[in-house]
Amino acid sequence: MATLPEIGYAQYENESDASVPLKYFYIKRQGGGWIRKVISKFTFGLSTGFGSTTFRHEVDGFGIYQNPGAAPQLFESANVTSGYSNWFNKVTTTTSAIQPGAFRVNSDTAEIGFKSNSFNIPLKATLHVEFDKYRIGGGYSIESIMMSDFKPISYGDRINNYSPEFASFVLQKYFGMIGGTVYRYNEYLLVVDANIGGYNLGKNFDKSAIKKGVFLNLGVAVEREMSEYFRLFVRPSYEIKSYKLNIPETNQSITHKFNAFYLNVGATYRFPELRRCFLKTCKAQMNHAHGNKEYRSRVHPIYKKQNPHYGENHPNLIKYKGKNKYKLNPY
Ligand SMILES: [Zn+2]
Repeated sequence: MATLPEIGYAQYENESDASVPLKYFYIKRQGGGWIRKVISKFTFGLSTGFGSTTFRHEVDGFGIYQNPGAAPQLFESANVTSGYSNWFNKVTTTTSAIQPGAFRVNSDTAEIGFKSNSFNIPLKATLHVEFDKYRIGGGYSIESIMMSDFKPISYGDRINNYSPEFASFVLQKYFGMIGGTVYRYNEYLLVVDANIGGYNLGKNFDKSAIKKGVFLNLGVAVEREMSEYFRLFVRPSYEIKSYKLNIPETNQSITHKFNAFYLNVGATYRFPELRRCFLKTCKAQMNHAHGNKEYRSRVHPIYKKQNPHYGENHPNLIKYKGKNKYKLNPY
């Protein structure tokens, strides 16, 4: 017959018989699911700003002749009879002869060529992953380049400006990016990165005559962390790129450099790991659980920094804000 244990005697022989496992009381919190976890590794970036592109080419192996009151023309040094009226985006031959009073200069006696500055507005999208200080990813950018007249590099008083056949063109770029945070001060980050990739000049350019290189864009960005998900940034950068235009029947080509300076301003966003709390009346300011599911705060704006242990929506008490801050006894 079983008897109740007397006071002073142990109820069980050992601990494992006695203890009720904790799992009956606490269920491990569940986060946002694996798809959300994967997506939350990616940081999206979007930026715009302004750019200044300098087109520059030298006409080594060629000469320039300038008929009075006309556009400048190119001729092959070895063959004065073949002239060109376009050697920028495609090759156009001309039959117009050298007239009396024309100015003529050859590239073997002088450094000759043309340059042009143009203004552009880029729109750039990036996607990258960050681990430790490093980041790797890729992106796409599109910009409209407003062309202006080419000015001669030398003999500015003898050679006229050269006008491109179109006023603007759309430049598209696709690239890989690699970079890292080199310095951090509170919520500010200094990031150095490189974009390397290809570009598309659009239909104004004769693809069959053009041989493109890759472009390299080096930038230094100052990023401000608004929250763990949202950052604002300013990124000045310099870009090196060029293409070769083959001049048929000459076995020669002209290298067109179009390096550029950019100042991009934009934002990056990382998708939160946790779903937003479903409870309309819930005012929790930090990550929290309902049942065994973990949620992100409803009231915490995505652009605000949050201490993981308590909300920081109102870091300054109302009694220290606005006109109250001048009062000796706010309440
Ligand atoms: Zn909630």
